[in-house]
Amino acid sequence: TLHRNIRTTAEYQAIDAAHHWHPFTDTKDLNAKGARVIVKAEGVWLTDSEGARILDGMAGLWCVNVGYGREEIVEAVARQMRELPYYNTFFQCTHPAAAEFAEALCAQAPAHMNRVFFTNSGSEANDTVFRLARVYWDCMGKPSKKIFIARRNGYHGSTVAAASLGGMAPMHAQSGLPIEGVRHIGQPYWFGEGRDSGMTPEEFGLARARELEAMIDELGADNVCAFVAEPIQGAGGVVIPPDSYWPEIQRICRERDILLVADEVICGFGRTGAWWGSETFGIEPDLMPIAKGMTSGYQPMGGVLISDRVAGPVIDKAGEFFHGFTYSGHPAAAAAGLANLRIMQEERLVERAARIAAPRLAQVWRALADHPLVGEARCRGLVGALELVRSKPDMARFPEHVGAGALCRDLSVRNGLVMRAVGDTMIIAPPLVISEDEIDELGARARRTLDDLA
Ligand code: PLP
Repeated sequence: TLHRNIRTTAEYQAIDAAHHWHPFTDTKDLNAKGARVIVKAEGVWLTDSEGARILDGMAGLWCVNVGYGREEIVEAVARQMRELPYYNTFFQCTHPAAAEFAEALCAQAPAHMNRVFFTNSGSEANDTVFRLARVYWDCMGKPSKKIFIARRNGYHGSTVAAASLGGMAPMHAQSGLPIEGVRHIGQPYWFGEGRDSGMTPEEFGLARARELEAMIDELGADNVCAFVAEPIQGAGGVVIPPDSYWPEIQRICRERDILLVADEVICGFGRTGAWWGSETFGIEPDLMPIAKGMTSGYQPMGGVLISDRVAGPVIDKAGEFFHGFTYSGHPAAAAAGLANLRIMQEERLVERAARIAAPRLAQVWRALADHPLVGEARCRGLVGALELVRSKPDMARFPEHVGAGALCRDLSVRNGLVMRAVGDTMIIAPPLVISEDEIDELGARARRTLDDLA
């Protein structure tokens, strides 16, 4: 019972500080403050080791779509672990959980996607895309099509290929990325990069999409494998593209014969108010990396949904795809994923999010735009962002050394709300099950936090 909640907060902080190296964390800074110890959760509410109840405005890390405390998932995983805790899916074997989850996922996926390759995370899903897309072009007799084009400030994970596809400058700088064969274009981030251009958001969206066309033409379409992007950039700061953007990207990919990869790790499973971000933006990708909402985070799992266009030639011509993970299709993760999917379908969570929660959030969230420190309040489905500014209407940003975003994040938790900061952009992505009252509460706590920051 050593892992149970039997020590004091200070004791947990001390052992954590001594031994636990956290992802994406400045260890000295964390240890000076002490990590917040989260001990349990129910619905959209977290409880910390001091007993504080905090509204989880980030659904963990954009993943707990069905909310915490879903007994159906716990039961399904426990049952599976008693029956068959592990078996591999290599070497001519399968098991009921993986087979059934694959069937159910593909039934929910866009109609032209009928296969899934299982991974353990979103990063591995993007690494799988990196290899599979190249194999596809080999099978099509076009082995020169090797270069991936992705976006600055995109996020696709932390493994080497995924971090290379990502466009996070600090990640690249630390380890000599991107690897060869990856290029980046600009992002359709009007508030941050387009406001001073004299272009409307729609014009700016088109201009950013056409950077793809220009880069393909520069490299030669015969050398380009795929374009990879998130329907809405999440970790980059909830960059919601203007409506002009995605149809133009789709046109360019089709005309130049480039695979379109929509990284649905955040947007998939209802986040944008439809099952898939691609559906929200009316596009038909060839490959879709998924994770997060795939199991609502109850078990680690990711995957790639694969279109018939890609699966057909690779299965026909490549023979074996030399790729996979010991835990691909892990029985406990697949059982969690299947139970999670059934909850979403039976409770019509995506439809509910679109019909009830998203309009309420839009109303509550956009109302924050009248706050003196908010330059823009944007949202789509159940994901949103606030742009912090020092003054209006010139929209002057805070100087970097102020760390306004990080300050706002810390104040927010003190007000009982988890928001995340990406620079001075505050972001939210609550569980899809959030009630209307809880959305109002989220808005009230966010406003209190902004007042505290002022
Ligand atoms: N792709 C996107 C769009 C993500 O947001 C993330 C994680 O935040 C990943 C990929 C990587 O997923 P993971 O952290 O499961 O490796």
